[in-house]
Amino acid sequence: MTDTAKRIAALKKEQNAVILAHTYTHPEVQDLADFVGDSYGLSKKAASADGYDTIIFAGVRFMAETAKILSPEKRVLLPVLEAGCPMAGMIDEFKLLNFKSQYPDAAVVCYVNSDVRTKALSDVCVTSSNAVKIVRKIDEKRILFVPDRHLGSYVAEQVPEKEIICWNGFCPVHDAVKAADVMETKKLFPGAVVLMHPECPAETRKTADLILSTGQMEELVKEKKYRQYIIVTESGITYPLSKADRSAEFIELTTASLHCVNMKRIMPGHILESLELGIHEIDVPENTAKKARIALEKMLELAK
Ligand code: SF4
Repeated sequence: MTDTAKRIAALKKEQNAVILAHTYTHPEVQDLADFVGDSYGLSKKAASADGYDTIIFAGVRFMAETAKILSPEKRVLLPVLEAGCPMAGMIDEFKLLNFKSQYPDAAVVCYVNSDVRTKALSDVCVTSSNAVKIVRKIDEKRILFVPDRHLGSYVAEQVPEKEIICWNGFCPVHDAVKAADVMETKKLFPGAVVLMHPECPAETRKTADLILSTGQMEELVKEKKYRQYIIVTESGITYPLSKADRSAEFIELTTASLHCVNMKRIMPGHILESLELGIHEIDVPENTAKKARIALEKMLELAK
C-alpha cells in the first residue's frame, strides 16, 4: 500500500467516508475505491450508502451531483471540481423548456449524463444499462430523449413502438469512433467478440457483436464464455474487465483512442487533499434537487 493510500484509508475511517469510483477512472483510483461501477451501479450505491457520513466520488460532476441528490444528508466530495462531462453541457434548462414546449404530450427521458437542472425538468432518468427497459415501461408513446442522440437512437431501435425524438447531444469520446476503426481492428483479431457502448453512433454500432453498458460488459466477462474481446468504450474499463477474467484478452481499437480526459482528472493525491482539507464539496440547491430526485427515484423503481 502506498503512503497516500494509507493516509486515505486512515482519513476515511476517521471521517466515516466511502469512495465510489467509475470504471473509466485511473486504475490506481479504482484500487482505492470501496465500490467501482457504472452510472447505474454507482447511483444505487449512493442511494443506499447508509451508515456513512461522506461520499467521495471519483468520476465527473454529474455523478457526484446524483449522489448528493440521492443522499442529501451526506457530504459529497468531488476531488477535482473541474471534472465535467461535455455531453451534460450540451443541453440546459432553457433549451429543454423550449424542446418540451414543442411536444407538450411527450415524456422527457433524461440520460443521467446531464446536469441537475436538466434532470429536474425530466420525467425519468435512465442509464445506458436500463434505458431500453424504462422506455418500454413508461406509458407515453412519444418520448423526448436528452441529451445523447446516440443512446436515444439505440433505444429507438430497440423500442420501435414508441416515437423517440432525440436531442442533438453526444459524448465526444464515443461519437468519434467510426465503423472503419472497428473493422480495421476486427481484421487483425477476427476471433474477438466486439463489445460496444450504445453512446457510439448508429453506423458504428452495426459493427458490434453486442451493445452493452460498462456494467453489462463486466457481467458478461465474468461468465468467461469468450477468450478475446475488442472493447469499444472508454479505455479505463479494461482494468476491471481484466480483473473479471484474468485469462481473457482485451483489445482496444488500433486506429482510434477512447480516452475521456475528464474521467482521468482525479488522481489519488486529489482524493487525499479533498479529505484532508475537507474541500471540493458538491452542493445542489434543494428546490432543484427535490425535482431531480423524483426523476432519479423513478429510474431506480422502474429499473427493478
Ligand atoms: S466518457 Fe463521454 S459521457 Fe462519459 S464523462 Fe467522458 S465525455 Fe462524458
